[in-house]
Amino acid sequence: MSVITRFAPSPTGMLHIGSARTALFNYLYAKRHGGQFLLRIEDTDRIRSTPEAVDAILEGIAWLELTPDQPPVFQSQNEARHREVAEAMVEAGSAFRCYVTPDELLERREAGEAKRKAAKDEALAPDEREALLAEANALLAPFRSPYRDGTLAPPSPDAPYTTRLKAPDTGDLVIEDDVQGRISIKANEIDDFVLLRADGTPMYMLAVVVDDHDMGVTHIIRGDDHLRNAFRQKPIYEAMGWDVPRFSHIPLIHGPDGSKLSKRKNDLAAAAYRDLGYLPEALNNYLLRLGWAHGDAEILSREEAITLFDLSGINKAPARLDLDKLGAVNAHYIRTAELDRIAPLVMAEIKKTHEITEVKAQRIHAALPNMLDRGSTLIELANAFGFLLTDRPLALNKKARKSLRGEALDRLALVRNRLSQTDSWTSSELKLTLQALCDETGLSMGQFGPPLRSALTGGLPAPDIDQVLEWLGRDEALARMDDQISAAEPSSDASSLDEGI
Ligand code: GLU
Repeated sequence: MSVITRFAPSPTGMLHIGSARTALFNYLYAKRHGGQFLLRIEDTDRIRSTPEAVDAILEGIAWLELTPDQPPVFQSQNEARHREVAEAMVEAGSAFRCYVTPDELLERREAGEAKRKAAKDEALAPDEREALLAEANALLAPFRSPYRDGTLAPPSPDAPYTTRLKAPDTGDLVIEDDVQGRISIKANEIDDFVLLRADGTPMYMLAVVVDDHDMGVTHIIRGDDHLRNAFRQKPIYEAMGWDVPRFSHIPLIHGPDGSKLSKRKNDLAAAAYRDLGYLPEALNNYLLRLGWAHGDAEILSREEAITLFDLSGINKAPARLDLDKLGAVNAHYIRTAELDRIAPLVMAEIKKTHEITEVKAQRIHAALPNMLDRGSTLIELANAFGFLLTDRPLALNKKARKSLRGEALDRLALVRNRLSQTDSWTSSELKLTLQALCDETGLSMGQFGPPLRSALTGGLPAPDIDQVLEWLGRDEALARMDDQISAAEPSSDASSLDEGI
């Protein structure tokens, strides 16, 4: 049997990261077993489903490269088939037409609640109380329709009806869940639930089963908020004589403090992580490890994940979102990414805040290979290029101003002149020049370095000074030094004056 999994989101909002993880697990399980991963958009809720949400889902799974093996199925297009199956179930006696109206159902519930309340009356004799409670429980129990056996005639020939499942009445309903283990409930906990509404439109519970069957789904991996649904879905498979897929209900993702993710605080769309500067492979890797483990392995490529993913490695306890860990995983993927791949992403990020000229683009490209460890997100990394992009004359921070006073400026002038004579403007050559200058003057890099660095960067964080010199290029580097030297010329005490207040 070839494995077929599916991801079946309802397009009512963004693609949450919990759903992205569900999609990932389904994808990996199918690939691990040489099977197919399918996508079904469950758009039967006409009011809450929106085209924007469909787009957000498609965009999210495309960004995460969880490409389905076939074009997406839209559940709303299968309505006729859902109806056909419900009719077949009526024919076979596993479903029936129910003429109980919504008002009658409401009355029934209200009567049950009233009796339950009445049973609390202290003045009642124990046997009266028990009798009342028994009546209340019967009214509030999962609904068993009086029409389920087909013995009761419709109230009128054209009375509206819903089509309901004739729920199993005795024994236990058992799900052998591949994550949760064996779970059983009493059959009478399931009501005669609606398959087709009075207007003939299918209910979600029926549509899911019919579509999963028709798509050949063998393994259903989804959030454990659907576990109760599995007990309602299984009788439909059985009524139709269809194979019941394997179920895996995975625990939800909680916030760092163990509470549920909330829209206001921490429940972001998968695509929002892209906008925060995370790489899709990092988010995939992080989501994989969130709730699934293979020993201590933290970094797993897509290929490794496909070879290793198994249902037995899924944790039964809810996973907690840990953004520090996501940052660490992302930093790894940024550091090890191919330059061709990372360069346009970094450039796009930088362009959000800077005007990039040809010259600046060259500096960025020159620096990039040595800069990759300077951010755990693309945004941090882009910011780390600030020292290359700032325009002359540089705005100095306080520390830089302090290191460009008095004698330090004389040393800067010395370095500037010496560097200007360097033939080849490469970091290795520049490093040798600086070393030679130290040797000749008896001064240390600790004395030359700070004013030089401050003049070149304005005090912004930057890597080794010889690299900074190379990336800036001869003209820009010398001009940045000249700016400081000439700014201080009228009186080298001027800066100490303004600093001294
Ligand atoms: N459409 C359901 C949801 O978005 C998932 C149904 C399923 O996986 O069976 O929660």
